[in-house]
Amino acid sequence: MRQRETADCVIVGGGPAGSGAAEAIAKLAPRKQVILLEKRARPHGTCAGGVGFNWLDEMGMRLPANVIETPIKEVQVHGPSQDATIHADDLGKPELGAVLDRWGFDEWLLCRAIAEGAEVRRNHHFDDIVRENGKWLVKAHNADGPYEILTDYVIDASGPSAFVAKRLGMKLDEEPSDVHVGLQWTVPLPDPIPIERLELWFKRDPEFQGDWACKTGYVWSFASRHPYWDGGNPVKAGRYTRLGTGVDMEHNRIAGRSAKEVLEQFQRHFPDFAGPTVSENGGLIPTGQPLQTAWENVFVVGDAGRHVSALHGGGIWFGRVAGEEAGKTVAKGGAAEQYERGWQSRIGWTLRVHYALKKVLYSLENKEIDIMVAEMAKFKVGSADAQVEIPRLAMHVAKHPLLGSKFAVKTFLEMAKGAVA
Ligand SMILES: Cc1cc2nc3c(=O)[nH]c(=O)nc-3n(C[C@H](O)[C@H](O)[C@H](O)COP(=O)(O)OP(=O)(O)OC[C@H]3O[C@@H](n4cnc5c(N)ncnc54)[C@H](O)[C@@H]3O)c2cc1C
Repeated sequence: MRQRETADCVIVGGGPAGSGAAEAIAKLAPRKQVILLEKRARPHGTCAGGVGFNWLDEMGMRLPANVIETPIKEVQVHGPSQDATIHADDLGKPELGAVLDRWGFDEWLLCRAIAEGAEVRRNHHFDDIVRENGKWLVKAHNADGPYEILTDYVIDASGPSAFVAKRLGMKLDEEPSDVHVGLQWTVPLPDPIPIERLELWFKRDPEFQGDWACKTGYVWSFASRHPYWDGGNPVKAGRYTRLGTGVDMEHNRIAGRSAKEVLEQFQRHFPDFAGPTVSENGGLIPTGQPLQTAWENVFVVGDAGRHVSALHGGGIWFGRVAGEEAGKTVAKGGAAEQYERGWQSRIGWTLRVHYALKKVLYSLENKEIDIMVAEMAKFKVGSADAQVEIPRLAMHVAKHPLLGSKFAVKTFLEMAKGAVA
């Protein structure tokens, strides 16, 4: 016989989205009982760890120094033969953002939720969900065996696999190519690259002439001081970088080039980045846009809800915002419409723009990427707010006669599709 309990809300997943929801409920409605189930002893998303400081400011968060691995002072974008650099000095800022230790960051966020009064159960797995007398019955287990929780609300924050939403048959992705396979290798950072520099490389070559290429997506280098990140406990500080890429499922199937092959080809082309791999991790990166994020009182947040930038694959901030909005809705006893209005008003437009720009970016040929990067080099960044600057940059690039129609027509069509949907 399963043990049965009751709660006001069950949250599945203790990443940034789940802990954001838990913290919001516990803070705004301290009498509500919120139980967060996390299947691991410590949550940790697979991640390069990059965040912009502007979003932390927006959420009124001050990061403890121990979760910052490296400040980001400079971003370099490389096209096939053109480069552009954005420097924090250009914005009159000391830093643009940071590379985080995701183990430390996720734990810090979880502790904030616990400090507000949320109950966090580690090593507890969500198994199933069924409807019972107008409520939700969540089935879970831990080392002591299976149990059930009868609850009014459920928040699915279980990451890209979206276990609750999938169990309910919710439609999350428009097309299979809207999910990337991400892979990253921690390798020594080549000298003399400054540790505060983040680098991105773009190159398409459908024919592949022996050079490196990534048909959809890009290769990144996020410098880090901690090599053995996978174990959760850094053992030795140094100069390392997370060299990674995200390759969409479609690309993998058609071009037959996996994320691993892209990185191997990249390392052959840039042998300085081919030092011994000291750790490796990977995972799915949703690069679509949110389709269905609620089913009655089940709210889907973060990677599970596809609250991720389709353009660059960053999801920490978007997931946290969606989690917070789901938490606020539960705290007020609200319904799906409130939750959806909440996240849409804060990040909906940005997610749609990023999805449209992803489609444009993937359609560019090498010479067009070079034009884009050359235009980026001329672009005057006005603030550290990517929500504002990415659309401004797209409008700047669209002024170029060769790229204008592609940017304008494709972005317009994609945005119009989103508006109709
Ligand atoms: C290679 C790679 C690089 C990335 N780099 C960046 C980056 O630089 N910057 C950025 O902003 N984003 C990046 N992302 C994306 C980012 O990691 C995610 O968007 C973010 O972690 C989403 O947070 P989340 O809380 O929605 O999900 P997650 O962080 O995935 O958390 C989900 C949690 O749910 C738990 N869980 C899953 N199933 C169950 C279950 N059945 N029962 C209980 N618990 C469960 C998991 O253990 C996990 O802790 C990257 C992703 C990848 C794959």
